Amino acid sequence: MRLVPLPSQQQLYDHSPRWLQRILVNAEAVRREWFRRHGDYRRLVAEHNPAWYFRPRSDQEEWQLHRLNHLLAEVRRRVPFYRDTLPDRPLTSLADLTSLPMLSKEQVRRNPLALVAPDLNRRTLWPRKTSGSTGTPLTFYLDREATRYNQAVADAVLESLDCQFGQPRARFSGAYVTPYTRTQPPFWVWIDLYRQLQCSAYHLAPAYYPHYLQALRDHAVVYGTGYPTSWHLLATYILESGDRPPALRAIITDSEGISLEQQAVVEQAFGCPVVQTYGTGEVGQIAWQCEHHRYHVLSRAAIAEVVDEQGNPVAPGETGQIVVTSFASSGTPFIRYQTGDLATLAADDCPCGRHSPSWLAIEGRIDDRIKTPDGRWIGRLSHVTKPGVGIKESQIAQVAHDRIVIRVVPASDFVPASMEAVIEAARRYLGPTMHIDWELVERLPRTRAGKLRHVVREIEV
Ligand SMILES: [Zn+2]
Repeated sequence: MRLVPLPSQQQLYDHSPRWLQRILVNAEAVRREWFRRHGDYRRLVAEHNPAWYFRPRSDQEEWQLHRLNHLLAEVRRRVPFYRDTLPDRPLTSLADLTSLPMLSKEQVRRNPLALVAPDLNRRTLWPRKTSGSTGTPLTFYLDREATRYNQAVADAVLESLDCQFGQPRARFSGAYVTPYTRTQPPFWVWIDLYRQLQCSAYHLAPAYYPHYLQALRDHAVVYGTGYPTSWHLLATYILESGDRPPALRAIITDSEGISLEQQAVVEQAFGCPVVQTYGTGEVGQIAWQCEHHRYHVLSRAAIAEVVDEQGNPVAPGETGQIVVTSFASSGTPFIRYQTGDLATLAADDCPCGRHSPSWLAIEGRIDDRIKTPDGRWIGRLSHVTKPGVGIKESQIAQVAHDRIVIRVVPASDFVPASMEAVIEAARRYLGPTMHIDWELVERLPRTRAGKLRHVVREIEV
């Protein structure tokens, strides 16, 4: 007898009529909500009110040290992986954190269950997968406590911007909505439980921009979330065409970053503030932009160090790797977790008056670097396209050991001559031995998760 394999969930979804797709999507939403918003959820959101960050730095650090010591003691007791590596006495200062071992993605990848407290019921664990923008996916587990905590932190940031979970919202992300080959709208699905218009980031081609905007207006969305590059594509269309944007209170982005110039374009087009956030699936939201466009660490939710290759803190003004200790849960802990992302520490207090540590920029992933013919690694390249006029999107690609191509998606006001200044800016970082060209492209490739990488290395080095 021949065994007929069950169709995969995705095939089932693709071949269902729209009404059934909506039921399937909502069933998944119910499952996720069971992890996210439960128990005394409102109290947790209130605890994470961002007004806390105006308190003096010393108060914040005192609270963090207390919370950290509680976490470390619990983790040591519950998770065998940490029994021998965490100290058996409380730390006396946050600076002592550097004496604890860091946790790499490779360690998580090798044995994700080793990081889970054995006292947890497996059915209460959410196995999560990151796409791995470097091409290597990663599985990890979060318990209900961690998931709820991370959600409360994100909801508290939303509420500080006068937006609330439950108000109609639109989200652009790599979540699967419809097959890539589909050429007719809708490229979105309405999730009743979240009141969320889940929009596909994969189908944003110029011919479909008006349809996306119409869908946002039809659903009367109050705020936007998700990939900033998607919002930016729609924003450039609005400014070029004069099409009417939906009335949004704010756009709160995640998963990737855009330049401050692109952010200003989105704010102008939609007529609302745009707030970029930084976080990862493993540790949740870690930082958000204040009105001065600095990223403030959500120090009530986690400790985020910026460290050099030895794991020591970098000096103010310097760039290093973001290493996170999350306060979310002792059952599925992340302690000194190496995110692989880079941030530049601010050298002074932020003019906004908040006293949590702030970053001037997030420079992208450690792997998003270019290696020059003389062997230097250059990572901070996102700003070299600044002198370009009328650049909608760009990507810097290393296509040979001595060759860079800057790919440009032009806006209608693109000035080719301005690319000379861009090449010159790139040459200042990459040196005279690197050949630097530019080319026009219609679209830039996205990763499997639909994200745009600004710097890519297309050769093995
Ligand atoms: Zn600030």
